[in-house]
Amino acid sequence: MEETDALKWTRRFMSIAEHIATWSRDPSTKVGAVIVGCGAASKKVIGMGFNGFPRGVDDLPGRYDHRPTKYAMIVHSEANAILDARGHDTTGGCLITTKFPCSSCAKLIIQAGLLSVISPSVDPTNAGDQRWMEDYQISLLMFMEAGLSAYALTESGLVAHNFEAAKI
Ligand SMILES: [Zn+2]
Repeated sequence: MEETDALKWTRRFMSIAEHIATWSRDPSTKVGAVIVGCGAASKKVIGMGFNGFPRGVDDLPGRYDHRPTKYAMIVHSEANAILDARGHDTTGGCLITTKFPCSSCAKLIIQAGLLSVISPSVDPTNAGDQRWMEDYQISLLMFMEAGLSAYALTESGLVAHNFEAAKI
């Protein structure tokens, strides 16, 4: 089946996000995100980011290896993309990321006025996703309540996520 123009662009933006992810200095998790505008700006990247320490903070390997230090210092790709979009109107836009957003980023995504989030599918049997599952369920709950669409980009196109939102 011929892919729609919108889906073709979504895949292009995911490719950009995947490329940006490679710029991360975190040896264990590399995530990239791009924000595209709304309407006429829907084919335009207005912000991009990858996970890393704040500008000027030393990227010492030991800091990435020590989880508490890493978590305290790291800025996630989605937050960096939102900050990178300063000066642009993010209202109604879409965030495309290479990993489903954590609850901290989900809050920022909602507050930035973005209306859709596209990520790969979440695989609860995968160790990397397993560690975040409870947090992902909270993100999905917030997206649903705040009226955002969150889709998994798969071979067959955009599909609903295969895990359930938290019930709290
Ligand atoms: Zn995050």
